Amino acid sequence: MILILLGPPGAGKGTQAKLLASELRVPHISTGDMFRDHKARGTELGKTVDAIMASGGLVPDDVTNAMVKDRLARPDVGGGFILDGYPRTAAQAAYLDQLLVAMGRKLDRAVSYEIAQELLVDRMSGRRSCPKCGAVYHVTANPPRQAGTCDREGTPLVQRDDDKAETVARRLTEYEAKTAPLKRYYSEQGSLSEVPGTGTPDQVLATALRVLGRTR
Ligand SMILES: [Zn+2]
Repeated sequence: MILILLGPPGAGKGTQAKLLASELRVPHISTGDMFRDHKARGTELGKTVDAIMASGGLVPDDVTNAMVKDRLARPDVGGGFILDGYPRTAAQAAYLDQLLVAMGRKLDRAVSYEIAQELLVDRMSGRRSCPKCGAVYHVTANPPRQAGTCDREGTPLVQRDDDKAETVARRLTEYEAKTAPLKRYYSEQGSLSEVPGTGTPDQVLATALRVLGRTR
C-alpha cells in the first residue's frame, strides 16, 4: 500500500506514520530521515541541503524531489511505503504522481489527519519542558509529580516559545494555507481520506485502518 500522510503540527502524524508502517509492514519514509541520511552519507544532495539550511533558506522542490526519487529506487519499497512530510506542495504531488507512473505504481490514499485548531492549540500550549534534561510534560495530559518542576532533578519547567498559544495558532494558520492546495489536489483525484486525529494514538490508528479498508 502506498500512502502519503498530511496533518498539522501537533496532530501526531509522525506517531501515526510509525504505527501504520508497522501495521502494514511497509517502510516509513520521512523527509527529516531522508535529509539526515544524505547528510550522514555525505552525498551531493546532502551537501546541497546542508548549505541551503545553513543559510536559512528553504530546500527547493527539485532537491527534495531528487531525494524522494533516490529513496523510492531502493528495494524495500516493493510492498508499498508511507511518505511523511512529502509532498508539501501541489507541484511536489504532481512530481510524485509522475514518478509513481514511471515506476508502474500508483498512490493508494492521501490520509489527512483532522483536528480542530483550538484543540491543537490546547494540546501544544500545555507543554512544559525541562531546560536541563529536555523532558517534556503536559499540564493536564502528562503532568509532573509536582506542578512546574521536573520529576528527574527538580528543575523549574518552562514553556518553549514554539509552544506559546499565539505561536502555535500562527503556525497552524500557515499550515492550513499551505496545505489547502495539496488537499484539493488529492480530493480532485478522489484519493483523499480525512481521518479524525482526536483520541488515543491507537484509536486514531484503528480509524485510519478502517478508512483504508484494513482490519487488524
Ligand atoms: Zn529535567
